[in-house]
Order: sequence, then structure tokens, then C-alpha cells
Amino acid sequence: MNVPLLDLVAQYRSVEGEVLAAVMRVIERQAFIMGAEVTELEAAVARLSHAAHAIACASGTDALLLALRALDLKPGDEIITTPFTFFATAGAIHNAGGTPVFVDIEADTFNLDPAAVAAAVTPRTRAIIAVHLFGQMAAMEALVPIAERHGIALIEDAAQAIGARRKVDGAWRVAGELGTVGTLSFFPSKNLGAFGDGGMMVTQDASLAGRLGRLRLHGGSRQYYHDEVGFNSRLDTLQAAVLLAKLPHLAGWSAARARHAARYTEAFVAHPAVCPPRTDPANEHIYNQYTIRVPRRDELQAHLRAKGIGSSIYYPLPLHLQPCFAHLGYAAGSFPVSETASAQVISLPVFPELTEPQQQTVIDAVLEFYP
Ligand SMILES: *Cc1c(COP(=O)(O)O)cnc(C)c1O
Repeated sequence: MNVPLLDLVAQYRSVEGEVLAAVMRVIERQAFIMGAEVTELEAAVARLSHAAHAIACASGTDALLLALRALDLKPGDEIITTPFTFFATAGAIHNAGGTPVFVDIEADTFNLDPAAVAAAVTPRTRAIIAVHLFGQMAAMEALVPIAERHGIALIEDAAQAIGARRKVDGAWRVAGELGTVGTLSFFPSKNLGAFGDGGMMVTQDASLAGRLGRLRLHGGSRQYYHDEVGFNSRLDTLQAAVLLAKLPHLAGWSAARARHAARYTEAFVAHPAVCPPRTDPANEHIYNQYTIRVPRRDELQAHLRAKGIGSSIYYPLPLHLQPCFAHLGYAAGSFPVSETASAQVISLPVFPELTEPQQQTVIDAVLEFYP
């Protein structure tokens, strides 16, 4: 039985009627730019994220770039983040004119180690970007006080964690709720995926929300009048319509991912070679990825591929070792926890529509490889 890493066609079939009707409504009106669906989606995502404001934009990468542009970085300004994330997190820092400063992660959650963050703050530090990797939130209760103490911004890269929650001081907090800005992605493989690229910024700060809204529209709030130089980074009305139609299903999809994850973990937890991912007990994990650690990882991936089972390595080379960041002066050994993770991780199919027989095929194939 073939098991893809992700089956977007299965998801499309389950919402086809609603999505096509929503898309047709936009087409009939020909309101492709900043149509009513964009505003409606912003309001819905703000509610979901417990945020006062949400600003749609063209991608998760642009959401990070715009959030960083709003800091007005000067050459040499430092942004602390993790080297174990998708490239966009650090690429946006560079493109906004800042210098990425990497610090290592926690071995069990793959998220930023708050003690390492605190130790890396200098007078040039302007912000921390916490990535809620694979769908579980970073230790916000430790990161928020660090940002407050130093008067710097805390950006939450929640591209993989829309709607994920963490208990902070006894209250459930949603990804994007506590940071200066939270950034979301609607890339098709995220938990809420568009039919193309899309992104969103969420914030509690009204004046920052206004600035971000202008930055995505060439830096002006009135057409043809420009307060500053911004970008063309809007979310298409068509994508907003697709996302609005899919949004009511998001909680159910994320719950299905968590059920699949629990079943994998039950199958792997007692195994000496397969290390299932650990959820911090404070977190409600939404499993954008289900990522195990194993020995002989590349051989396991070849074994799965030969059986028609999809898998992926997120991420094979940590960002401090990428050729484009060689000038930052890091070397192999700079961040051993991230480097070990890059050598051991492999993500298995955990998409909501995964069937029990499909999942059993994956479990059997993994266990067969490590008898
Ligand atoms: C997907 C992703 C992004 C970028 O989002 P795009 O919409 O693809 O530009 C940024 N950060 C992380 C952690 C991601 O997973």
C-alpha cells in the first residue's frame, strides 16, 4: 500500500463543494484584490489566535519579513533565533537588514532553549524569533520575560502551529497571542493550507497592526499616498475564500493529526531504537509534523521509499551551517543539539485523512527495519 507523506487530494475531496462555492463567489464578483473575504479571514484568524488584530499577507515568509521590517533594523542589529527551523525564519532576518544570532534548542521538544536565548542577548539584540516547531509551542513563559527585561520584541513564528495552545501561568495561550507579533503560513502543507501561498500576522498592538497593514500595501493607507516604502504582499481574495471555507475544519483536522501521533507513539514508545517526539506537558501539540529520532536514518528513509511510504527530513542541515550564512562564523559543533537532531530526525505521514490501514503500513515498515 502506498502512503504519501501528505494527501492534499483526499482533503480537497472532503471539502470540495464548500471550497468551490466560495471560490466561485469571488470569481463572479471579480474582486480579486483585498476583497471582503480577506477582512473576514483576518477577523476569524484573530479570534482563533486570541489576538486583537490580524493582517493577511502573501506568505509566511513575508509575514516574518514585514514583522521584522517594522523594527526598522540598522546594520549590525541582532535577532536571536533557532538554527533548527525552516530557512525562512533566518532568511527573513537577513532580508530585513538584521544579523541572525543562532542559539541551540532543547533536545526533547526541538524548540529554542530559553537559557541559551538569555545568554545570547547583547546591547545589539532587537528581537527574539521563537519558532513553534512541528506544531508545539516554545516555552513562552520563559521567553516573554527575557524580551520584557531587555525591551526587545518577541516574534512567534507560528507557521507550523496555527491554533496550538500552551498552558502559561495556569491559562491556555494560543500561538501568536503572547508575542509582539505572531506569524502564520497558509502554505499548502501547513495545518490550514491555501491553494497556493498565503500568510498572516497577528498582534495585540493596534499601532503596530496599522503599520504592518501599510507595509504590505506599498507603505500607504490611502491609495497613491505613501508614508514609507513598503511591499506588495497581499493575500489574494481567492486564497482567503479557500481558507475561510476550510477554517471550520481546522480543529477537527488538528485533532485527527494528534490521534495519529498518539497511535504512532504507542507503537514506538517501548522500542529501543525508535525515539518518538516528546510533547511538553504544558502543550497541546497540533502535529504539523510527527518527527521521530532514529539511528541509520537515511537507510530507514530508503527502506520506506522502497515500500512506497513517504517521509521527509526536516531539517537535514541546520541553518548555522548553510553556505549562505558562512560569513556569520559558525562551525560544525557550534550547536550540538541541533546538529544531532538534523542527523537523526525523520517525519512520518500524519496528515488528517491518513487511514488506519495506511498508518499500520507505516508502523510495520518502521518496526521491520529495526527488528
Ligand atoms: C512554512 C514556514 C515558513 C514560511 O512560510 P511560507 O508561507 O512557506 O513562506 C516560515 N517558518 C516556518 C517554521 C515554516 O514552517
